Amino acid sequence: MRVVIAGGGMAGLVLARGIVQRGGSAAIIERAPADRRIPGPIMLPFQAYDALEEIGVLDRVRAAGIDVPPLRGGRPVAISVPRQTVVEELRDGLEILWEHELVDLLRDGDRVVGARVRTAGGAHDLPADLVVGADGTGSRVRELAGIPADLRVADTAFVSFRSPVPGPEPFSIAFLSDGRQLTLLNWADGSAGGWQIDRPAGGAEEALAPGLDAFREAFVRLLPAAEAPLAALTSVDQLGYREVTEVRCEEWWRPGVALVGEALHAMNPEVGIGSGLGMGDAQALAIAIAAHPGDPDGACRAYEHWRRPAIAPYLAVGGTASKVYATGRRPEHERWPPA
Ligand SMILES: Cc1cc2nc3c(=O)[nH]c(=O)nc-3n(C[C@H](O)[C@H](O)[C@H](O)COP(=O)(O)OP(=O)(O)OC[C@H]3O[C@@H](n4cnc5c(N)ncnc54)[C@H](O)[C@@H]3O)c2cc1C
Repeated sequence: MRVVIAGGGMAGLVLARGIVQRGGSAAIIERAPADRRIPGPIMLPFQAYDALEEIGVLDRVRAAGIDVPPLRGGRPVAISVPRQTVVEELRDGLEILWEHELVDLLRDGDRVVGARVRTAGGAHDLPADLVVGADGTGSRVRELAGIPADLRVADTAFVSFRSPVPGPEPFSIAFLSDGRQLTLLNWADGSAGGWQIDRPAGGAEEALAPGLDAFREAFVRLLPAAEAPLAALTSVDQLGYREVTEVRCEEWWRPGVALVGEALHAMNPEVGIGSGLGMGDAQALAIAIAAHPGDPDGACRAYEHWRRPAIAPYLAVGGTASKVYATGRRPEHERWPPA
């Protein structure tokens, strides 16, 4: 089966490795240049381990990262590791068509039969039996295929920072009284912290207006583990602000096209499992393709049939996960930016 994967993120790479491992082949098109580096750490959750182990990279990824306890059966609940390390491990041995952007889908009636790709040299067509959208939250494949999606900017946003100084533990978290979180995650280059705040109407400007000192003081009061990491920051420019779009699709595929990862379901990063779910989707689709070599629709049907029940509980809880801890009204010192 000719498979074109749009998107060389973690989900697309796991899919390509899974297909190759089962004797197939796939073309991966990635709009970014080959030298793109993805900054910062990721908390790689245990839901990713099956896919990484099957590909044979779990031990190397773990060795490059920091175990996040608790450990069960000798394995941690998550691994804090540079994002770049994970994608480089996954890319190993794959040929990626860099700076290739999917701009259209080719059709024969209702069926998708390939992708139109734009490169520096112009546009060309890649015929395919199955085009997979592994192209993230704003998926062009999803849009072009007409697969309806519920896109929602989350009520919460993040003020985050990276520090060269690690915290005292691999991972520290404080739950606020309404269930939102402050986190600090150590990684190879120090630590990364974040505060999940109510999304302010004024966006980044409003969130960062009180300045670094005020942020440091308020953050450390709620999560003392961040004292040394935050003391190392010198400018408010070292704080970042990010809003999050959540994605839900009821349909997973249409003839000749399927979705995996954040293109199919993106949840609030507070849950910390998005990558694991995307890799699980990719692994399931790779298995389904191998089981239905000449039948893309059969493969997609099997993929959805196996994977939907496995992922449904996560999607049901989704971005509201932390709200189960809610205990009541939030005191003033838990508000950012302060009133
Ligand atoms: C702030 C933040 C923090 C997060 N933290 C965690 C965490 O701690 N733990 C966790 O498990 N998950 C986390 N996640 C989720 C995690 O990052 C994703 O689930 C993971 O990266 C897999 O995504 P993906 O491969 O589906 O999509 P992406 O990583 O978005 O990859 C999509 C790829 O497709 C390419 N692309 C897009 N459009 C096109 C096109 N038209 N043509 C060609 N290429 C295209 C993009 O360049 C990109 O490389 C976080 C997400 C965010 C936003």
